[in-house]
Amino acid sequence: MIRAGATVGFVGLGRMGTPMATRLAGAGYRVQGYDVSEQAVRSWAERAEGACQAASLDAAASGAAAVILMLPGSAVVRSVLAGLVLAPGTAVVDMSSSEPLVTRELATEIGRGGATLVDAPVSGGVAGAVSGTLTIMAGGAPADIDHVRPLLDVLGARVVHCGEVGAGHAVKALNNLLSATHLLATSEAMAAAAGFGLDVPTVLAAINTSSGRSGSTETKWPNFIVPRTFDSGFSLRLMVKDMRIALGLAEAAGTPAALSAAATSLWAEAAQALPADADHTEIARWLED
Ligand code: NAD
Repeated sequence: MIRAGATVGFVGLGRMGTPMATRLAGAGYRVQGYDVSEQAVRSWAERAEGACQAASLDAAASGAAAVILMLPGSAVVRSVLAGLVLAPGTAVVDMSSSEPLVTRELATEIGRGGATLVDAPVSGGVAGAVSGTLTIMAGGAPADIDHVRPLLDVLGARVVHCGEVGAGHAVKALNNLLSATHLLATSEAMAAAAGFGLDVPTVLAAINTSSGRSGSTETKWPNFIVPRTFDSGFSLRLMVKDMRIALGLAEAAGTPAALSAAATSLWAEAAQALPADADHTEIARWLED
């Protein structure tokens, strides 16, 4: 098991990676943080006590018992792993929301050199990353997950072992397909409510103790859409990436996906129309327009 005091490489110091790497440093790990953006590394190091800024990928992985990845998706994960020489026994933990089949391929590739890969994507957003209350959906051999478990326990309140490697990434994509479909449906319902002359917070209050409630009615609408801040910290483009991964799973399995396809197509249309850095809660404003 990789316990406090061990050296950990952390690659990807963005909205999620910054608070996660900060928690690990706070828990007593020697965290070597790296990001392709030097500014991201500097601003993380300013926040995190005991942070070790890594000037390169190799410096991040040097002497590390584990290398944690919190990157946009599989394409970047693949290129980062291709650029790393991993010592035998190194545990790679891909906490990004990646593509399950690519994750399986990468696990086999790095396994040839004696390293292991666990997929451990998360739900709970930036607030969950800051407070260490993320839900972690883990995929991999039980022994490999046990090995990195102390790290996961610093980052999340709940670790669910979903199955073999890639299973965590599959569950995460399916979770986000549901979450995005709920948010789109909620946004349509709230537009109809407002059009009918109803007070949206009152409508949400009624629904939140009724059968139509969801994370969208309980959290996203009240916290980011009603106050018009649209600042949840999760980008709309990353949501569309996750929906496409989930839709691909349904297509590969040959299971019905008409609603999923329609929702993904609407989200993709919004991604085309909105700026690249638009927050995913902007879907509600896009619908209104
Ligand atoms: P982000 O865009 O804020 O951060 C990604 C970071 O990766 C950036 O700092 C970027 O510079 C860095 N990066 C890109 N290419 C790199 C490379 N080749 N080498 C090193 N660093 C590189 O994204 P985020 O919101 O932190 O999301 C990260 C992952 O977590 C994504 O897969 C996302 O889908 C997932 N996720 C995000 C949230 C959220 O609320 N933001 C919640 C759950 C899961």
